[in-house]
Amino acid sequence: MQYERVDLVVVGGGIMGSMTAWRAVQRGLKVALVEQFRPGHARGSSHGCGRIYRYNYPEADYVRWMGGAFPLWHALEEEAGERLLFGCGCLDLALGPEGDAMLEACHGAMLSQDIQSDFLRHEQIRQKLPQFTPPPGVRALYQAQGGVVAADRALEAAWQGVRRGEGRLFVDHRVERVDLEYDQPTVLARDTAFRGQRLVLAGGPWAPRLIPELARALTPTRQQFALLRPEDEAMYRPDRFPALIVHDVEQPYYMLPIIGSEAVKIARHGGAPPADPEVVQATPEPRELEKLRGYLKHWLPGAYNAPIEGGKTCFYTETSDTDFIIGAHPARPDVVVLAGFSGHGFKFAPLVGQVAVELACDGGTSWPVERFSPTREALLKPVG
Ligand SMILES: Cc1cc2nc3c(=O)[nH]c(=O)nc-3n(C[C@H](O)[C@H](O)[C@H](O)COP(=O)(O)OP(=O)(O)OC[C@H]3O[C@@H](n4cnc5c(N)ncnc54)[C@H](O)[C@@H]3O)c2cc1C
Repeated sequence: MQYERVDLVVVGGGIMGSMTAWRAVQRGLKVALVEQFRPGHARGSSHGCGRIYRYNYPEADYVRWMGGAFPLWHALEEEAGERLLFGCGCLDLALGPEGDAMLEACHGAMLSQDIQSDFLRHEQIRQKLPQFTPPPGVRALYQAQGGVVAADRALEAAWQGVRRGEGRLFVDHRVERVDLEYDQPTVLARDTAFRGQRLVLAGGPWAPRLIPELARALTPTRQQFALLRPEDEAMYRPDRFPALIVHDVEQPYYMLPIIGSEAVKIARHGGAPPADPEVVQATPEPRELEKLRGYLKHWLPGAYNAPIEGGKTCFYTETSDTDFIIGAHPARPDVVVLAGFSGHGFKFAPLVGQVAVELACDGGTSWPVERFSPTREALLKPVG
């Protein structure tokens, strides 16, 4: 058995663990980032070209977190010498009174934090986005500072940042045991015992295995998305097409413009049954892809008529209240758990990493984390 002794051990090289490791090396810590697969693998939650970032949330806490994440995203862009954020704006469309109420709540939460957003009526939507043919009477909320983050590039940039500092990456190292009995938390992977002054567990859909104490609160679900390549591609690039969220009573869904090598992405938000990340099902069902395309019939004829270029799967790890889990492990305060990002965590990842380091090393943070408590009562309710 070999021993690896560091200031901070991070388990999980998805976006949350990688950003934690990056923020830790920025603070001058010696870090081991332990990942069971290879960088960029497609079995967890962080792969693919794009993720929406937005201030558009009905809760002011998330609006504040977005504001805190931006400077860290820009710091990573500067360090990597590469553009990661594509500021195409974010458009929320409402179908029906529930959707309308959601837009009002988002507008109010943003206003409370001095973030501007604008309601658009049918004609204004048509002017801004001639690709759209929305039904009359539809309302939308536009937020100019939203956009799409290049997800795979961001993950790579964080890994590079870790390498540049005092960080070591251990790939193909599956943590088989988390030992919290010693003075210092220790994890065992292959032939190595990683012992840190502090430990952060960021296992994505494997979190219920890594943190059995929270297994009941976490439900991994397998999401599927379709990729369509419209004939007039230029109309669907970030300079002409925003990130789009449709608040449909039956099923919310969203679309991303063309980012990197990926075509226009369309997916439903949630509504998928529980699934186990150990059972690999990387190919989406053709029926689901056709269903996704069907949503576009009356809205985006150009994309609806485009061929399906492919599709992918990806895991959400859901909590009953859709709030994240960020805080001390129920068994000891020097171990921090990051889990339950419920399909909307990516945009906050650098701040999640920063907060994880503060919680682990300083025992507290100035960021509001109460709603993310691992011991909150809402976590006892079933997801659904
Ligand atoms: C289809 C889809 C669309 C999304 N869209 C958005 C969006 O538009 N905007 C947004 O903000 N968010 C979005 N999200 C959510 C966001 O992508 C996730 O919140 C985020 O990627 C979660 O990252 P993670 O690091 O927690 O998990 P993961 O990326 O799954 O990382 C966990 C890592 O831990 C490793 N691991 C687990 N167990 C072990 C072990 N025992 N030993 C070693 N390593 C281990 C895994 O291999 C994995 O690499 C979306 C998610 C999906 C699936």
